Amino acid sequence: MESGLDNLKHAAACLRAAKNVVVFTGAGISAESGIPTFRDSDGLWQRFSPERFATWDGLLKTAVADPRLFADFLIAVLDPIAVAAPNAAHLAVAELERHLPVTVITQNVDGLHQAAGSTTVHEVHGSIFEIVTLGGRFVRLLSRAEVREIVQRLREAREATLVLPKALRAIHSMLGPGGVSIHRPKIVLFGEAMAEPAWTLAQEAAEQCDCMLTVGTSATVMPAAMLPGIARSVGARVIDVSIEPGDADFPLTGPAATVLPDLVRKAFR
Ligand code: NAD
Repeated sequence: MESGLDNLKHAAACLRAAKNVVVFTGAGISAESGIPTFRDSDGLWQRFSPERFATWDGLLKTAVADPRLFADFLIAVLDPIAVAAPNAAHLAVAELERHLPVTVITQNVDGLHQAAGSTTVHEVHGSIFEIVTLGGRFVRLLSRAEVREIVQRLREAREATLVLPKALRAIHSMLGPGGVSIHRPKIVLFGEAMAEPAWTLAQEAAEQCDCMLTVGTSATVMPAAMLPGIARSVGARVIDVSIEPGDADFPLTGPAATVLPDLVRKAFR
């Protein structure tokens, strides 16, 4: 049985020899930036059930039945993202590009890979900052500062006597009726199709890589969870970084913001 140190050594060698790397990330890479994951014991689904909060239908019903809880949910999702900055794991992923061709595929909607400097990022579950019409047409990009403003106004709304109208005004630049259509953030809720063209590009990248580095993902959310299998089917080796031991050629167990900089250092310095 390989020790953690052996795995780090082999993973570093695998990365160094690679011609084409895909980094596939989930909520765990942003945990140390203060953004909670959904499924861990302190995750969002412990406080807000996915049945009520992970579909537009459930969200709309909650908004009408319990607008204060609706505002609480939006604050819980948006506030950590609004104040987050990339951590050492995002920075290590960006640094990889100085050494070899890298495609980042992320399930996250927090924009932290781009903020860290990664240049090719496919956001297969979309982005909280990209506002589109119901038909998917681009409307505008929100800044992190604008999301902070939305959170501040939602906090005021939840203290008001008439919560719903104030909450709807607070989120209007992100979600609500626009000039010709309803607009919404381009995020993929339960039962919705994957974000395009990101998903098609992500599958192509997985088919072309010779090394996939999966970071902070439980790899249970379908169809994104198929990507490591696609990479394996074309002969790529898989390195997994997670606080729980993962299913990979080289599992590296530990917090991403510690393990990833170690791995990049070992591979390239
Ligand atoms: P998940 O919540 O299912 O799994 C997170 C994984 O990260 C777990 O396996 C956990 O053990 C691991 N982890 C937790 N902290 C870690 C750390 N510090 N270092 C390394 N690993 C760590 O997340 P998922 O698989 O990405 O799926 C949840 C879905 O929810 C995603 O598809 C995403 O769209 C969405 N989501 C996004 C964000 C975000 O944008 N930051 C946050 C929460 C959820």
